[in-house]
Amino acid sequence: MDKKLVKQAVEGYLQKTGYGQMSLNAAMFDMDGVLFDSMKNHAKSWHQTMAHFGLDLPEWEAYMHEGRTGAGTINIVSMRERGHEATEEEIERIYRYKSDLFNQCPKAERMLGAYELLVKVKASGVVPMVVTGSGQKTLLERLNRNFPNIFQEELMVTAFDVKYGKPNPEPYLMGMEKFNKVFTSAQVSPNNFIVVENAPLGVQAGVAAGVFTIAVNTGPLPDDALLSQGANLLFHSMQEFCDEWQIVFSYLA
Ligand code: MG
Repeated sequence: MDKKLVKQAVEGYLQKTGYGQMSLNAAMFDMDGVLFDSMKNHAKSWHQTMAHFGLDLPEWEAYMHEGRTGAGTINIVSMRERGHEATEEEIERIYRYKSDLFNQCPKAERMLGAYELLVKVKASGVVPMVVTGSGQKTLLERLNRNFPNIFQEELMVTAFDVKYGKPNPEPYLMGMEKFNKVFTSAQVSPNNFIVVENAPLGVQAGVAAGVFTIAVNTGPLPDDALLSQGANLLFHSMQEFCDEWQIVFSYLA
């Protein structure tokens, strides 16, 4: 990546937010589609589930809804296909079917380059955090197994912490709050963070939280789906971001 692009992105962010400078303390990583290559499984499960219930949700569209609650996604499709929202009972039935399908999928692999990037981030003195809408019970164990010695539980935001979820800025605001609680000596603001996201709604949440947001386009959507939500910088893979970390960091520190 051209250094000029990174410089421009940072200058644009500072101009828009009014901060004098970036001073990076922590990097908030989304999980699905960023740390794990799990979005294919979600998209396939959503598509097959909707077809089973006589509704249509193409796989690519599932990527547009990534980050939404199950009920939110079901209602959008129901409104479009049938002209009315789904009942509570339908939502439960459809979502359970989707979860069962997803759980039958082979376990998603670590995203290529993700661990190497996290090691670099940590070595730069930046604290890696996870901010996810996922609420799997085995989340922490799975993260620690795949990314040993990277994450701290007190600095993790999951489905259990939030009320609204993305695209609401809440999860990222909570991430900053948790960081503040753990490092009580530091008084932090959004310019002390970056967000790393693969989904349009996730980018929207990061930007709404006032944080410099780096999009990693690991799915089938056009780059513009992420840039139009306000992403400050875009990479096409975690490996590419990993390879360019030093350049990015030099402008964020
Ligand atoms: Mg994601």
